Amino acid sequence: MKYDDFTEEIKSKLDIVELIAQYIELKRAGQNFKGLCPFHAEKTPSFMVNPAKQIFHCFGCNRGGDIFTFIMNLENMTFLEAVSYLAERAGVEARIVSGDPVIKKGFKEKLYSINKEAMNFYRNTLYKSAHALSYLRDRGIKDEVIEKFSLGFSGDDRDLLFTHLTQKGFTIEEITSAGLSNFHVGKPQDFFRYRIIFPIFDLRGQCIAFGGRTMSSSKEVPKYINSPDSPVFKKSEVCYGSNFAKNSIVQKGYSIIVEGYFDVIVCHQFGFDNAVAPLGTALTNGQLRRIRRLSDKVLLLFDGDSAGVAAAKRSLEHIFSEAMVSKILLLPEGEDPDTFLRKYGGDYLRNSMIGAKNPVEFILDIHAKNKLDGVKYMLSVLSACPDALLRDEVIRALSETAKVSELTIRQELKNYAKKASKARQDETIKEGKSPSLLDIVNKDEKMLLKIALSYPDRCACIISNLDPVKIENLRVKAIFEKIIMLHRENQKVTLESLYRLCTTDEIHLITALLVDSVSEIDSVEEIIEGCIRAIQIRDLEKRIAFAAEQEDVTFLHTLLAEKGRLLSKK
Ligand SMILES: [Zn+2]
Repeated sequence: MKYDDFTEEIKSKLDIVELIAQYIELKRAGQNFKGLCPFHAEKTPSFMVNPAKQIFHCFGCNRGGDIFTFIMNLENMTFLEAVSYLAERAGVEARIVSGDPVIKKGFKEKLYSINKEAMNFYRNTLYKSAHALSYLRDRGIKDEVIEKFSLGFSGDDRDLLFTHLTQKGFTIEEITSAGLSNFHVGKPQDFFRYRIIFPIFDLRGQCIAFGGRTMSSSKEVPKYINSPDSPVFKKSEVCYGSNFAKNSIVQKGYSIIVEGYFDVIVCHQFGFDNAVAPLGTALTNGQLRRIRRLSDKVLLLFDGDSAGVAAAKRSLEHIFSEAMVSKILLLPEGEDPDTFLRKYGGDYLRNSMIGAKNPVEFILDIHAKNKLDGVKYMLSVLSACPDALLRDEVIRALSETAKVSELTIRQELKNYAKKASKARQDETIKEGKSPSLLDIVNKDEKMLLKIALSYPDRCACIISNLDPVKIENLRVKAIFEKIIMLHRENQKVTLESLYRLCTTDEIHLITALLVDSVSEIDSVEEIIEGCIRAIQIRDLEKRIAFAAEQEDVTFLHTLLAEKGRLLSKK
């Protein structure tokens, strides 16, 4: 079986709309489905999915592709990993091509299985330790919740896990890459020792790392630690509990962000099953981007002490820069969601949530002594917000609550925006944003390529009349060269075959053209002819200008005659 047939078979069994709808909300919009892009911050949907062509394209960040590209981008997988993952979902068996497995189980797969093994090891250890188990029960964690979150325990031994994993056949490289053990003065040493273990899962429910809370009363050891980053775990992009919370976040329309592992667990136990937490650090943009895919609304539920207030303030900066809508609820000083829920119960918290503040109220409240400081802080936060509608809403609220004229706030914001714009530019460059792809291609080249892609049976007609050298846009030209190549080799011009040949940028242009709505074309031949003529004329005009510049009169006459001939054909 050929590789193309294999990926084709997976594609035929999975619907791109269904697949993507598991990550973001999609609404029908003509021939496409529309939603908020999971790859960049936006408030107005520019992310399109075309069910007929089984592709997606975002007109905001210009990303596009098929189911494989989508999963690669979203789950941070290589192509082979995405194929393997989707093959499994489609129920297509990975087949063997000339002795080599088509899908080699990659290193990442190994890391998933080693983490799973470690998780089971820690769980068994917990059930063997009356001491650790009663610690959890004393904290009010129910047995079924301990089970649900797969909580575990690591004893005080130096390398018990290491020994267990090597016995299970894992290599030292795998064990150390997963961050489970390291080498200390030449001897293996487990990373988590004498700690309650919180397995950390990705959205698919695969264990990717661990958090550990010490059981020791010594001040020498940190209370909480996490696995180091690994090929399957980027601390700054993962929220604890998101795999358990994802459905609830979508259903309830918002997520609750708390600070710690126990906060998440106790929240879930009391029915607040849309709670997640950053991993022992301040909330990051990467973490927010992950949960924004589920909902763009968050409720910050923090301790009311000075550390909690500072954390909430810092979180707001990231929340606004991701164009998310937030409310803040600070608990009484010294209480975190864990202790608060156990003391007062779920109903009490639910009632308190009604009093959650919007960012303006929250910031002005904590700057009650110096209102102006509060306004300035809001402006600095707002200047990083990419969403004009959200900015407007907050400006109005700020003007009303702080009793400052809207005009003054808008003028001040411009100054802040100037400062922030440089920072944002850097960010944009980092994210590879570019002006809309379609705007930089002239309309004839765009139309011609669109026809070639949408009506593969017309390719022959286009190719025989078109000299790709005359195409102005380099990307369009490169794609046409590939179409011609496929044609010469008697291969079908399909999206599939082009995906294999094209660069990422070229694929983005292809998907942009294909999801761009087009009314049914009646007279394809006429349009092809018109486009090719326009391309030829533009090319001639360039050469005419050049000949005139060079004062090459003979050549100029030849070119002018040719132009006359082309124009008269019309
Ligand atoms: Zn986008």
